[in-house]
Amino acid sequence: MTDRKRLTSSAGAPVGDNQNSLSVGPRGPLLLEDIHLIEKNAQFNRERIPERVVHAKGAGAYGYLEITADVTKYTKAALFSEIGKRTEAFLRFSTVAGEKGSTDSARDPRGFAIKLYTEDGNYDIVGNNTPIFFIRDGLKFPDFIRTQKRDPQTNLKNPTAMWDFWSLSPESLHQVTILFSDRGTPRSFRHMNGYSSHAFSWINMEGERFWVKYHFKTKQGIQNFTREEALEVGGKDPDHATRDLYEAIGRGDFPRWRACVQIMPMEDADDYHVNPFDLTKVWPHGDYPLIEFGELVLDRNPDNYFQDVEQAAFEPSNIVPGIGFSPDKMLQARLFAYPDTHRYRLGANYATLPVNSPHATESQNYHRDGAMRFDGNGGPSVNYEPNSFGGPVEDAKFKHEAYNFEIDGIAERYDHREGNDDFTQAGNLFRLMTEDQQERLIDNLADSMKTVAREIQLRQIRHFSRADAHYGEGVARALGINLAEIAETEDVDAAPTGVSG
Ligand code: NDP
Repeated sequence: MTDRKRLTSSAGAPVGDNQNSLSVGPRGPLLLEDIHLIEKNAQFNRERIPERVVHAKGAGAYGYLEITADVTKYTKAALFSEIGKRTEAFLRFSTVAGEKGSTDSARDPRGFAIKLYTEDGNYDIVGNNTPIFFIRDGLKFPDFIRTQKRDPQTNLKNPTAMWDFWSLSPESLHQVTILFSDRGTPRSFRHMNGYSSHAFSWINMEGERFWVKYHFKTKQGIQNFTREEALEVGGKDPDHATRDLYEAIGRGDFPRWRACVQIMPMEDADDYHVNPFDLTKVWPHGDYPLIEFGELVLDRNPDNYFQDVEQAAFEPSNIVPGIGFSPDKMLQARLFAYPDTHRYRLGANYATLPVNSPHATESQNYHRDGAMRFDGNGGPSVNYEPNSFGGPVEDAKFKHEAYNFEIDGIAERYDHREGNDDFTQAGNLFRLMTEDQQERLIDNLADSMKTVAREIQLRQIRHFSRADAHYGEGVARALGINLAEIAETEDVDAAPTGVSG
């Protein structure tokens, strides 16, 4: 034996032969008592955990957020407390709809999830590379995602399902416009922006609250693939963005983002011209300019992909003192959905895994037991509260943190479409594109819609036209549709609701 470590079983017993199984004679059948063969294969059979139902394919890295400007008049959160302060971060980037082995260059939003290991606990900003989303009510999330996944019969991606849903859900138009623009196929995870998309709140020392949206602007510059380039790269190297991130960090070319925030005084929300908590809308920069407060840097690749990236569990519910939620309906649904999916995918003790546990403080609570508890499980300490034996206790100082704003109204299922303008902001985006960009957008849309039934095409083109007449005309022309045909057809916008009779 050399100075290399001895191979052992899971229980630590030495392994004498890792090349040959135990058989009856050289050509004979194997013996059930070959415990090494059985342990090795049984372990292998259990290597896979369920992939994420969305955002399955991803890459991640460690780094930090450094504060470069004083925002303490808006938030008392410890991570923002002084200029120059650094908080350790872990980021995971991903595509949304594809499986764990799918191509990085797919036309899809990209996840942009940040975990900040603050001294007051972990703060997760679980955003995307788009400032908005396709829907504004979490009740529609499973429906929407099914249209992006595989058809129940053919197991193929199904453009009809996508366009059927989108054309019946006009609130998706703004995000559809981003998705089919150049930014739908980013060149890498480093060459795109990140957005919290949702509004959150910041709370200062005086208890004043402000609505905020985060923007992380790439310092590498925005770079995108054309549709043709994305197809080619996806064919040659489906993992190109994963590789790009790993290699850039490996050679010391650390990706950086300007960390910015839009801040809306609380009272503005009441009569702002759009619902500021509607995830399909941006806050125009002209109304709420970006305020830069820091730099986000990635400077360390994980040593083990499964341990740190596959087991990473981000949840918008992870906030810290000085940060609060907002009434955004999608955010509210995600507060439930994320921890729930982690409990299913990783198990009840997912928060104790090294990448998910706090790094700058300790979690102190009465959670005990459950599958795979390996962190000491509280040892002999008391496991109920109140108790007389020194267990952790609540701190009333934090009682009103996340929730102390006035809410009233009748509990009701309010129509989220009523009175909503789904077209102006999509049109604004179309109008800020150069002619070349508009042409590529229209060409990408026509390519995706070309196999879809005429009725669905017409319904969707009417949405494009409402955003901007040139937008609708362009897509119609690219699909070989006469504009008169659109005008003649019945105009049905909303999803069919309910049964009659
Ligand atoms: P501004 O002119 O101040 O901002 C336009 C923004 O659009 C910039 O942030 C720019 O990003 C971004 N942009 C440019 N091309 C694309 C694209 N193909 N896909 C997505 N974003 C793009 O205008 P407003 O704030 O008034 O917004 C006008 C429209 O711009 C909105 O309706 C929205 O669609 C889009 N937008 C707005 C954002 C916001 O938070 N206000 C954020 C992102 C987009 P960059 O600076 O990196 O070039």
